Amino acid sequence: MQLKSITDYLESVAPLKYQESYDNSGLLVGEKSLDITGVLISLDCTEEIVLEAINEKCNLIIAHHPIVFGGMKRFNNANYVQRTIQKAIKNDIAIYAIHTNLDNVFTNGVNARIAERLGLINTRILRSKSNSLLKLATYCPSDNCDAILDALFAAGAGHIGNYSNCSFSSSGIGTFKPLAGSNPAIGSVGNQSSEEEVKIEVVVPYHLQNQVINQLLSTHPYEEVAYEWYPILNSNQFVGAGIVGDFPNPISEIDFLDLLKKTMELEVVKYTPITKNIQRVSICGGSGQFLIEDAKHSNSDAYVTSDIKYHDFFDAEKQLMICDIGHYESEKYTIDLLYDILREKFSTFAILKTRIDTNPVKYFQ
Ligand SMILES: [Zn+2]
Repeated sequence: MQLKSITDYLESVAPLKYQESYDNSGLLVGEKSLDITGVLISLDCTEEIVLEAINEKCNLIIAHHPIVFGGMKRFNNANYVQRTIQKAIKNDIAIYAIHTNLDNVFTNGVNARIAERLGLINTRILRSKSNSLLKLATYCPSDNCDAILDALFAAGAGHIGNYSNCSFSSSGIGTFKPLAGSNPAIGSVGNQSSEEEVKIEVVVPYHLQNQVINQLLSTHPYEEVAYEWYPILNSNQFVGAGIVGDFPNPISEIDFLDLLKKTMELEVVKYTPITKNIQRVSICGGSGQFLIEDAKHSNSDAYVTSDIKYHDFFDAEKQLMICDIGHYESEKYTIDLLYDILREKFSTFAILKTRIDTNPVKYFQ
């Protein structure tokens, strides 16, 4: 199995276009033509993880966190990043990072997995991503309208909230004048013509633009297909940061903390108390300070995340129980998530979860 088949599949689940601007998700080390013998999944990619991959005969490491974020100017093994990269290159091991793009997808995302563990229902994205939707308009004879719509829907166009196959069609008159080089069957060169046509409009997620246009061009009967892409400002309900959901019934603060500790297998929870029961919960795996206000606006009773600073806890204003469960602890089930995503599709090579705890933070009790 070529590396490209695996990365193409992962990018269909978590498109690279959905990663944050500071991120560096994607193929970091290796060539797409590499034949993959085994995959090792980890949260972080360290020297120990590369060593584990060598020992397990895995030549692809899929890690949530990118080992490289910024530009590297020297390769002299002076720090763990350089040593990790060099060890991987010397041993023909590819490294792929699937970070904020996996955080930002609703289906199969990092936060959905945490919400599922906690037993939340009615889950939805906490801060949906804007600038990730387009509108496609195209024009065709009415006889071809259904076939074109079917092709566009099959390529992923027309999905709004809990509804698929959404479109708008209107009738009108299209005009054209064939020029030299045009198909003689369409009309005489220089003759103004007109045709009754249907205008079709559909929304398209940004990352599906190429496959939607390919479907349109292969289904449309015209030699020259007229179409327009429009960027739209609507947020994509299925892409964005954090998740919010509800417990079927409210539970006490202490029961919530107990549940959190058990289901996330935590040694400790750092939190700021409130005096109300917990029903609505916001979640952001990894560093989540940036979503405190969104959690408050969603009327959440609790916010589960990590890397909260002392002063950020004051932002809870006694309305929100902010629970800092630790960065590694909040994301460790991403290893299971990636395993399940890959297992569903591939069975011809070994897929292993790391046995190494890469958490650099320990608790002394
Ligand atoms: Zn993280």
